[in-house]
Amino acid sequence: MRWTRSLLATLRDDPQEAEIASHKLMVRAGLLRKLTGGLYTFMPLGLRALHKVTQIVREEMDRAGAQEILMPALQPAELWERSGRLATMGPGMFRLKDRAERLMALGPTHEEVVTELMSGEINSYRQLPCIVYQVQTKFRDEIRPRFGLMRAKEFIMKDAYSFDTSLEAADSSYQAMYDAYVRIFKRCGLKAQPVEADTGTIGGNHSHEFMVLAPSGEDGILYCPACSYAANQERAERQTDGSPYTASAGSPTEIATPGAHTVEEAAAAVGVKPEQIAKSLVYLADGKPILAVVQGTREINECKLRRFLGCTMLTLADDEATVKAVGAPFGSIGPVGVSIPVYADIGLKGAKDVVTGANKDGFHLAHVSMEDDVKVTAWADLATVVAGDHCPHCGKPLTLERGIEVGHVFKLGTKYTKSFEANYLTDKGQNELMVMGCYGIGVTRTLQAVVEQSHDDDGIIWPISVAPYAVTILLLDPKDEKVSAIAEQLERDLEARGLDVFMDDREERPGVKFKDADLIGCPIRVVVGAKGLAKGGVEVKLRTSKNVEIVPVESAADAIADQAAALKEAL
Ligand code: ATP
Ligand code: MG
Repeated sequence: MRWTRSLLATLRDDPQEAEIASHKLMVRAGLLRKLTGGLYTFMPLGLRALHKVTQIVREEMDRAGAQEILMPALQPAELWERSGRLATMGPGMFRLKDRAERLMALGPTHEEVVTELMSGEINSYRQLPCIVYQVQTKFRDEIRPRFGLMRAKEFIMKDAYSFDTSLEAADSSYQAMYDAYVRIFKRCGLKAQPVEADTGTIGGNHSHEFMVLAPSGEDGILYCPACSYAANQERAERQTDGSPYTASAGSPTEIATPGAHTVEEAAAAVGVKPEQIAKSLVYLADGKPILAVVQGTREINECKLRRFLGCTMLTLADDEATVKAVGAPFGSIGPVGVSIPVYADIGLKGAKDVVTGANKDGFHLAHVSMEDDVKVTAWADLATVVAGDHCPHCGKPLTLERGIEVGHVFKLGTKYTKSFEANYLTDKGQNELMVMGCYGIGVTRTLQAVVEQSHDDDGIIWPISVAPYAVTILLLDPKDEKVSAIAEQLERDLEARGLDVFMDDREERPGVKFKDADLIGCPIRVVVGAKGLAKGGVEVKLRTSKNVEIVPVESAADAIADQAAALKEAL
């Protein structure tokens, strides 16, 4: 491809709304253009790179034995009613009506559609295991679309679904997908760390996310350098010795704390450290009020609380619901004497002298024993784990890093096959539910994650496997027929060796071309100019290196093909 015939335009300035490097660079390098918040057009170079990621995904899915299908993006809402997710998806799902006033959804994911499909297709154990996948546009009305392709309203996902005869058989499908994911991200040049993950509204009980470590990542990851435990902060657990306040100081004593609503204010008013406060919050778990209690310096982790309670919807109670449940508003709530279930974090275990709200506006209780004065319904690990907490496996301190979730694998069990009566006949002629797994990769997010992980101040540094072009030729003297002829011949020779080539044939100063080549970031740069040719050949440079090698014209194509092969090999 020649620059003068392409739609490519690079930008000098960062787009205003772009907050992270990869978003800035993808727009500046002319790969993406914004339509409006969360919606992007892939320009020719961006689309080439996207196709390369998609191709890798398809090859590895096929290799793992999955079969490609394509399901409709437009789905009848009735399917979502059957799975019970019409309510739980909330406003994140785009809903619309067809002309017959039937409620429809733009698919945010496809568990419902695929299970309905497979309930009709699969009859016998002989047809199992069966894994299907698709590469398709998904729609999600994200609260805060941002970071370009990272969190978009419309994005491309590869989603795969496995169907098996038993839980054990489903484990093999899960492992096959997990292994394929490891290969996919490696082939894309990404360092992706599998971590234990929360299952969210999708259900099921076992899942891993693949995280690309990057400071701009939206997810927190707790990692144990000693034993390699890794988990999303939404799900990470910890070991704890319980509360340090184990010495009893008498019975609960009411203290006036006018105007003290936050933990810090209450601590100051009572004259204790914030960690001696036991903070309480009222939640509605599927509509029913419960009280959760945690140390004052910790946060209650709503994902962990929801999992522990086994409820579908967990929301923080508003002031009205809080007063109704415990008789006092937010800021004065406590676990002593309440009639609703109390769930206490294990970090408060053994506490005999903590301060809680008095369930009376403007008052706190000092000298509360969590053991003797509170009717704890259950103790659980409910706090958000932070850096320095103890690894749940080996007890060593955890570190906190940031990650971008590029893929997610789930064991679903029979959650969906039950709703859709997706049965098969066993070898003994019995009817049984199929056991499912589901597996997603954000293809467009993965592409941007490559850029986020691989760039410098000058621009993108594409791994050769997903670069829009493997080679960029900078033709420095496009008006010089002899020089142009050499560049064009080299382009043909490289293409004959299976390499894709982009030629900057613009009449621009060399400095401009060098800058743009760095910005776009193709792995191999070849400069063809009168000066260089007089010195003995073309200049070959890798985007990852500062070294410039002069290569005679005759051997240039072979030398460059060798370099490209070495780059591929290194992935
Ligand atoms: P997140 O926690 O980032 O919102 P999710 O857990 O809701 O994502 P899944 O339902 O697991 O996402 O979807 C599978 C994959 O699709 C994710 O791992 C991610 O790579 C990608 N993805 C999800 N939401 C978006 C989005 N809004 N824009 C781009 N990619 C997305
Ligand atoms: Mg996910």
